[in-house]
Amino acid sequence: MKSESVEMTFDTIIHNGTLLTLDADMRTLPAGWIGIREGRIAAIEPTCQAPPPEAPLRIDAAGGIVMPGLVNIHTHLPMTLFRGLADDLPLMTWLNEHIFPAEARFIEPEAVHWGTRLACAELLLGGTTCCCGGYFHEDAVAEAVAETGLRAVLGQGVIDFPAPGVPDPAQNVAHARAYVQKWRERSALIQPAIFCHAPYTCGDTTLTAAKRAANELGVLFQVHAAETVSNGISPWPTRV
Ligand SMILES: [Zn+2]
Repeated sequence: MKSESVEMTFDTIIHNGTLLTLDADMRTLPAGWIGIREGRIAAIEPTCQAPPPEAPLRIDAAGGIVMPGLVNIHTHLPMTLFRGLADDLPLMTWLNEHIFPAEARFIEPEAVHWGTRLACAELLLGGTTCCCGGYFHEDAVAEAVAETGLRAVLGQGVIDFPAPGVPDPAQNVAHARAYVQKWRERSALIQPAIFCHAPYTCGDTTLTAAKRAANELGVLFQVHAAETVSNGISPWPTRV
């Protein structure tokens, strides 16, 4: 007997894959298919007793896994550009001697755009469809992410020294507010946020003002916390 869903019409059918539903029962369906209509999953057929219906787009999963997208909950997308610049160092050495100087020298909107595009390509190729990131020039990050179809929470970086795009630290929270207001209603897939870099780079006044701004604007607040040991010793076992 055909299931009711077989009678429905779909824009896209994904078939010939093992479906990981991640539903309440964590069901794995080795031979079903998924029907998508208007961008949403409209049907999951658990068996292949009936052939999948026709659809304008049929995706043959070729025996692969069909699963919900992965979520990267912490990233700095444009920093793909710094990959390999300095590795296996204590956090403060890495930041103060390598990353902050490189950011001061190279980070401007076009670099952020291309670094973000590269990061998005890598995320999508690895099956990640949603991420939470934060950086400077976050407006350029959001523009680039929005072109890809990824879903993202993207925080404008706040730090108490001159930063890319915010040369006057006294303007850091105001700059973040303006970014949030620009992106708050702009995209169904992009959620703007405010990202204070860390308690050691943002003073109490900045942390308080940034959190207050996030609360007032109704957006998420991000901050690095408990990143590593604080005595300069590398957290990596081979170095301790
Ligand atoms: Zn981080």
